[in-house]
Amino acid sequence: MKTADIRSAFLDYFRTKDHTIVPSSSLVPANDPTLLFTNSGMVQFKNVFLGSEKLPYVRAADVQRCLRAGGKHNDLDSVGYTARHHTFFEMLGNWSFGDYFKRDTIGYAWDLLTNVFKLPPERLWVTVYHNDDEAYGIWKDEMGVPAERIVRIGDNKGAPYASDNFWQMADTGPCGPCTEIFYDHGPEIAGGPPGSPDEDGDRYIEIWNLVFMQFDRAPDGTLSPLPAPCVDTGMGLERLAAVLQHVHSNYEIDLFQHLIKVAAELTHTQDLANKSLRVIADHIRACSFLIVDGVLPSNEGRGYVLRRIIRRALRHGWMLGVRGDFFWKMVQPLVEEMGSAYPELAAKQSFVEEALRTEERRFGETLENGMRLFDAVAAKSSGVIPGGDAFRLYDTYGFPVDLTADIARERGLTVDMDGFEQSMKEQQDRSREGGKFEAKGQMPAELASQLKPTAFLGYEVVSSQASKV
Ligand code: ATP
Ligand code: MG
Ligand code: MG
Ligand code: MG
Repeated sequence: MKTADIRSAFLDYFRTKDHTIVPSSSLVPANDPTLLFTNSGMVQFKNVFLGSEKLPYVRAADVQRCLRAGGKHNDLDSVGYTARHHTFFEMLGNWSFGDYFKRDTIGYAWDLLTNVFKLPPERLWVTVYHNDDEAYGIWKDEMGVPAERIVRIGDNKGAPYASDNFWQMADTGPCGPCTEIFYDHGPEIAGGPPGSPDEDGDRYIEIWNLVFMQFDRAPDGTLSPLPAPCVDTGMGLERLAAVLQHVHSNYEIDLFQHLIKVAAELTHTQDLANKSLRVIADHIRACSFLIVDGVLPSNEGRGYVLRRIIRRALRHGWMLGVRGDFFWKMVQPLVEEMGSAYPELAAKQSFVEEALRTEERRFGETLENGMRLFDAVAAKSSGVIPGGDAFRLYDTYGFPVDLTADIARERGLTVDMDGFEQSMKEQQDRSREGGKFEAKGQMPAELASQLKPTAFLGYEVVSSQASKV
C-alpha cells in the first residue's frame, strides 16, 4: 500500500465512523506564541479541550503536518540515527470532544490496524498507564491481546510531569493517561519491548498513541475529573507505512525512496542507504513545508530553526562531494510525492525553490572554509572542540552550533558548549559597548571598530562579514 493510499484509507475509515475530516493546520501554530511549531495533531484543538472553543462536531479526524525540531519536542538529533524519527512527519489523528471514550478509541484503533490494514495481531504490543485498569481490561478482555504483550508503564521515566504514558498539556489543565501501540519488527533488529531497559532500540516501534483526556490538574497538583472527557490520538504515517510496506525503516517507504533516489542522483552517491541521503530527504520536507507555512531563513526564532535545518542538509550534501547548489532541486520530487495531498506545497513550488536557492548560495560561500577550519581544529583537539572555535565557526562561517556539534558527533568529538556560550556573551557585551559608544553620538560604531587595535580589528572585519552569511 502506497503512503498516499494509507493516508486516505485512514480518513475513509474514520469518515465511516461519523468523524468530520478537517484539514491540517499550519506548522506555525495560530494564536499560540508559546509553541514554536505544531508538534502533534492536537495543537489546533487545544482550546476545544480547554473548553474555550466549541466546534459544530464532536468527532474529528485529520492528517496533520508536524515538526519536531525545536521547543519541547526536538527529534533533530535523532534523524539519521534511528529508523523512526523525522523532523517533519505526518500524524494521523482522530478526536472525540466529549463523545466516545476508552472503549471506542481502543476498538477503532484495533479494528483499523488488524481488520482494515490487516496487521498480524501477534506483532502488536500495547502499553497502558500503570493504574489504568480500564484500558488494560479493554485490551485484554475485549480486544484479546494476551497479558504478556500488555505493558503497564509507571511514573518511572523522570519526565518533567509524569511518565511517558501520562499526557499533560502543561503544568495545569486537561491531562490523562495514554495507551500506545507498538509493532514488533522482529528479532533480527536490536531493541527490547516497551518498558524494558533497551526499549529505545528500533525493534519495537511505537506507532500510535491514544490519549484519554480525563482530568483537570489544579495548580496544587490534584486531579479532578473533566466534565467531558476527550480523546486525542496520533499515529505516525511514515511508521505505519513502513509496517505496511514490510520494511523496517521509515526511510525505506515509497515516499522516501523517491526522495532518496533523487538525492543520490544529485549527489552522485551509489549507496542508497547512505545516512546523509536520509538526512537530506528528511530535511527537504521540513524546510519546504516551513517555507510554505510562511517561515523564511533568519537568525532568530522559527527562521533560525529553518536556517539550521537547511545548513545541516547542505553540509550533508557537501560530505557527499557536492560543491554547487543541489538542495533546492529536491523540491520538484517532493511536490511529485506530496503535492496532491498538500496543494499549498504545489502552489508555492517556485517560491520555495527560490528561497532555498538563495540560502544555499549564501551558505555555499562559507561552508568550504568553515569545514577547513573545523578539520584543522579537530586535528589538534583532544576530543573536545573548544568553545571559541565553535563560536568562530558560528560567527564567521555561519555554522549554527548544533551543526558543529553534529559534525563533531560523527567524528566522536564533542563541543564545549559552555565555552561557546561564553564567547557569544562576550561578543554581545562588545556590541553593546559599541552601541553605547554610538549612542553617545561620538563616533559611528563601524568607524570606531577600525580604530581598535589590529588584532581586534581583524576580528571585527571577520564578524562584519559574518553578518552577511
Ligand atoms: P518516540 O517514543 O518513538 O519518540 P513519541 O512517544 O515521542 O515517539 P508521540 O508524541 O506519542 O511520539 O506522537 C504520536 C505518534 O507520532 C508516535 O506514536 C509516532 O507514530 C509518531 N511520531 C512521533 N515522533 C515522530 C517523529 N519524530 N518522526 C516520525 N513519527 C513520529
Ligand atoms: Mg519522541
Ligand atoms: Mg514514545
Ligand atoms: Mg508516544
